[in-house]
Amino acid sequence: MSAPGEETADPVDFLIVGAGPVGLLTAILLGQRGLSVTVLERWPARYPMPRACTIDHEALRILQSAGVMRDHSDLFEPSRGERGGYQIRNGDGVLLRAINWNRAAESGWANTNGFYQPDLEEVLEKVAVAMPTVDLQRGVLVDDIQQDEQSVTVTATLAGNESRVSFRARWLIGADGANSAIRGLIGIETEDAGFEADWLVVDYEPLDDSEWDAFVTQYCDPQQPATAVKSGPGRRRFEFMRRADVSVDKLGQTATAWELMESHGVTAETARIERHAVYTFRGRWAREWRRSRVFLAGDAAHLMPPFLGQGLCAGLRDASALAWRFALIESGLAGEGILDSYETERSAHVREIIDEAIAIGRVICELDPGKAAERDERMLAELHDPNAILVEPPHPQLGHPSITIDGDVNAGRLGVQARVQSDGVTGLFDDVIGGSWQLVSIDEDALTAIPERLRQWFEIIGGSITLLTEDGAVRDIDGAYRAWLREHGCTVALTRPDFYVYGTDLVLDAARLLQSLHDRLTGGSADHPQLLREGVLP
Ligand SMILES: Cc1cc2nc3c(=O)[nH]c(=O)nc-3n(C[C@H](O)[C@H](O)[C@H](O)COP(=O)(O)OP(=O)(O)OC[C@H]3O[C@@H](n4cnc5c(N)ncnc54)[C@H](O)[C@@H]3O)c2cc1C
Repeated sequence: MSAPGEETADPVDFLIVGAGPVGLLTAILLGQRGLSVTVLERWPARYPMPRACTIDHEALRILQSAGVMRDHSDLFEPSRGERGGYQIRNGDGVLLRAINWNRAAESGWANTNGFYQPDLEEVLEKVAVAMPTVDLQRGVLVDDIQQDEQSVTVTATLAGNESRVSFRARWLIGADGANSAIRGLIGIETEDAGFEADWLVVDYEPLDDSEWDAFVTQYCDPQQPATAVKSGPGRRRFEFMRRADVSVDKLGQTATAWELMESHGVTAETARIERHAVYTFRGRWAREWRRSRVFLAGDAAHLMPPFLGQGLCAGLRDASALAWRFALIESGLAGEGILDSYETERSAHVREIIDEAIAIGRVICELDPGKAAERDERMLAELHDPNAILVEPPHPQLGHPSITIDGDVNAGRLGVQARVQSDGVTGLFDDVIGGSWQLVSIDEDALTAIPERLRQWFEIIGGSITLLTEDGAVRDIDGAYRAWLREHGCTVALTRPDFYVYGTDLVLDAARLLQSLHDRLTGGSADHPQLLREGVLP
């Protein structure tokens, strides 16, 4: 830190603007890789209220990689409840759709989990500030930014005495939320999906032990659309849409919150309101995610209505996608070219999720009784079997261009983590075996064909090569890897540090997968025929 215009000290590797969950996680992931990070946050104290209240399996695997799950898995309450946990009902309470949110998912954690956002942010902050590589400075409002070919300098106002200070880094990540100052300062515009609805969010602690039969219920009542969700251990949330005849001011009143909750049987005798606030739910995204040395992540880059509980999850994916790229670049193991795919991969992925969230939002937010009746009829007809419980479609593949194998249908999909046993230790793969890049196979021959020099290089970038068997050194104890590989028509899979599949042996065998990854990271050709022509591979 220095006064503006003063000769600045050596720059840190990263400035992160915003100490929300995305900024803090990004700081941890970069700091763990030995990079120096300064996080600048405008508010002197942590934001004490929850916004996100559900989190998915992939996000928990990302938190596992940050070391959070080891001691804090009790922050998360897995989805339980009747009919798959996620129920969509009409105004008469008739079930229109049931979705299985209760399932065990491919990342090794429960598919969906309730949690209390301030508790997670407290843990993230504690982990971050305990790291010698991370410096968190609160009460610092960033309002100017300049960059040249080597560095980025921001100028900020300090809370309390209003003095002006500057910070310099080689890279900057704007994780400063929906109204991102960084996004505005670097001149990036946003695009809006044209969906907008005001909702009252009421968080409360139940005072009785009455149970809900679902984890989430969407009440698609045109008189009063509402959501009820279990928002973490010992907590509940209601969300109520604003009707045209109710002002934002009226919706925001405590009396309105009680009145609306009473219609669901929740009263001052059975609940203590923790807070209530009105939010405008909308879909929006940044047109670009990068200007030279400045990147956007989290709500600064994308915003969605919360009907699928995916906004924060998407931000944590951004953190993971940035961290592994920078770790390789900063240790000289990859060229800066790999940064180009951050936006292309992540923006297409999140756009699909924004579209899904808006589509379900339009179902839930219908206020026209005639259209609501048509919707009910259509959804009941689609239900066919009234006992059917749908499994949600898998999350989208990464957008292109991406750091994956072209022409491999498995590439860019989320990979799998399951329990393994090795040396008498049983646990999730990332804890027991690890490896930021993971090459796994159920075919021994496929792995023995990998040349030694490729093995050595792969180890240097943090890769692990694992033969999974039913009774060998590393046991696939639940058969989950075998099942995943079979389902995807392959015997070898190479996954990236953000758990997305780089490629499988549908297109390239194990040795060629590693060679192509080497070429891709180091800027060489990843073109398979050329590798063969040059005789690079045996
Ligand atoms: C009602 C509601 C329900 C939701 N439910 C879910 C859910 O169930 N699941 C889910 O995954 N997501 C959900 N979300 C979305 C989720 O809450 C957000 O995506 C997430 O909190 C965004 O985190 P972030 O770190 O990107 O931004 P923020 O948490 O907004 O953090 C940004 C930080 O930057 C700081 N800052 C801003 N400007 C500056 C500046 N100029 N200088 C310094 N600091 C600055 C801010 O003070 C803030 O601390 C929900 C959102 C809402 C509103």
